[in-house]
Order: sequence, then C-alpha cells, then structure tokens
Amino acid sequence: MAYYQRHGHPVGDEAERLLGSLDGGRALLFASGAGATTALVLTFLAPGSTIALAAGAYYGTGETFRELGRFGIEVVEFDQTGPPPDGVDLVWVEAPTNPFLTFPDLEAAAAHPAPLVVDATASTPILLRPLEHGADFVLHSATKFLAGHSDALLGTVVCADEAAAERLRELRTRTGIVAAPDPAWLLVRGLRTLPLRVGRQSASALELARRLSEHSRVERVRYPGLGDPLAARWMEGGFGGLMSFDVAGDARAVEEATHVITNATSLGGVESLLESRARWEGDRVPPNLIRLSVGLEDVDDLWDDLAQALEHA
Ligand code: PLP
Repeated sequence: MAYYQRHGHPVGDEAERLLGSLDGGRALLFASGAGATTALVLTFLAPGSTIALAAGAYYGTGETFRELGRFGIEVVEFDQTGPPPDGVDLVWVEAPTNPFLTFPDLEAAAAHPAPLVVDATASTPILLRPLEHGADFVLHSATKFLAGHSDALLGTVVCADEAAAERLRELRTRTGIVAAPDPAWLLVRGLRTLPLRVGRQSASALELARRLSEHSRVERVRYPGLGDPLAARWMEGGFGGLMSFDVAGDARAVEEATHVITNATSLGGVESLLESRARWEGDRVPPNLIRLSVGLEDVDDLWDDLAQALEHA
C-alpha cells in the first residue's frame, strides 16, 4: 500500500492495471512520455552506455538522449528496417516512427543481445503488442491515443520482467517522475473507448491515405497501411491514425487552410490535427511534410477539408 503520493496512488494503480493487461506486462505510469524515456535510461544505463536509436524516431526522444549525453550516454542512429548495430547497450525502436512512419524489423531487433524498447505510441496495444514479439519494454506517450482527448500529459513503460519493473519503479519514486492522480483518472476514462477510437481512426486514416496518394497536389504519403511489409507482419486490425504526406507546394499554406482539421501539435486525440513538421524539426524533415493525426470526424468531411486545403499548396 502506498503511503505517499510519490510512491503511488489508487487511480494510478488502476491505470497501471489496465495498461499492463493491454500490453501483457507490468505497467508503470509516468508524468509524460519524455519522463518515461528519461526514467528508462536512468534506470538501466550508466556512463559509457550506448543507445541504438531508430533513425526518424520522435524528435524529442533523440533530444532527451542528447541531453543525457552530459552524463556519458552515447546515441547512434540506425535504420530500424534492418538489424541494430553491434556493441550497443540498449536498442530503441519506434513502431511506427513519428513522423516518418517507418516500421521496425521487430524480429531483428529482438534478436539483438541488448534489451529492446519499442515506443508503440502510434500503434497502441490495440494494434501491436511488442512484448509478444520479444521486446523487453514498451513505451507509450499516453498523452496521445491512450488518454485520447488531448487533455492529459502522461507516459507509460510496460515491462516484460517483474524485477526490471521494480527497479524502474524505485527510480521513479526516487526521482519523482510520477503521474499525478488527475491525468491518471483521465487516462482510465479514455481507455474505456480505446478500441473503438483506434478502430475508427485506423479505418479513416487508411481511406485518407489512399485518397491523398492519388491527389495531384501530394507528392508522397507515408502510412504503414499502404503496403509496408513489416507493418503488415506485426500489426493486427489496422495501421493507426497517424500519417504524413508531402505536398507539391507550400505546406504552411495548406496547414493554415483547414477548417475541420485543427492546425496544432500533438496527435492521438478525438479531433484531427495537422501541422507542417518543419516548424519543429526542419533539420531533418522535408519542408513540405505535413503530419496528420486522424480523429473521429466523418471521413468524407475530413477528405473535403483536406482537398480544399490542398488547393492552397
Ligand atoms: N514518443 C512518441 C512517439 C511521441 O510522439 C511523443 C510525443 O510526441 C513522445 C514519445 C513523448 O511523449 P510526451 O509528449 O507525453 O512527453
């Protein structure tokens, strides 16, 4: 029994019970996805350790690792569609990457001797359960699809191994990277509709990805459901609500021209959001790349909105 909120609280315990059963492991809740990332590194790595990070993974994850570089943590990036490099202490893949939507070769990653972290924020446990494919840890920014309503900041790590979970929990308590009860409650409520939301978002996203790929003002669409063999091998029941596409022209003009879809950062909520990612990660994304998180609106309303906005490209 927890006797002080930094150790745990009833609604946090309930959220962890639900998250653990969804991913098939022992879940721990954190103050944010970035907090969960930090806690994993601080718990299991030491000065001199090297992380193999999937190229194209969430920009902030690389930034967090580089921040921790001051404490002797090294990072090497690799192409996650193939095997991770030898001689690293932790393998970190993202299924699929935000915003490039590449999918990892989970078999090759799990065969590597180092512990494997799969950031499955964009897949959710409805579509992918990495612990069943050899991962040691699953990480989610629960801020996104899990809580699902763009009103809570949370992260979780689901551990395959009970002893590892205990070490992580200890670090969490010591450092105070803990979730407060109020967002945890929002997560518990949001999880009730997770399968319905993800099912609808996946179906709409696939439809929009197909239509976008045929649009004359779109150069390229990145979506795992458009024939990615690795995603097809491991994802079940859909490919998620996240995609990105390159417009033939000015992405800024397109993102500012939508009416149904909100021009804002973040993803995984009930409202569709889009933004040109060059705003934040212009050093690595094409200037015309737009990330789209598909919400629960009518798919034809979303398409009409995108089609009229693309006229501004
Ligand atoms: N992982 C992925 C794939 C993300 O998209 C994000 C946030 O955008 C994070 C981790 C970090 O999560 P948070 O914003 O909850 O700290």
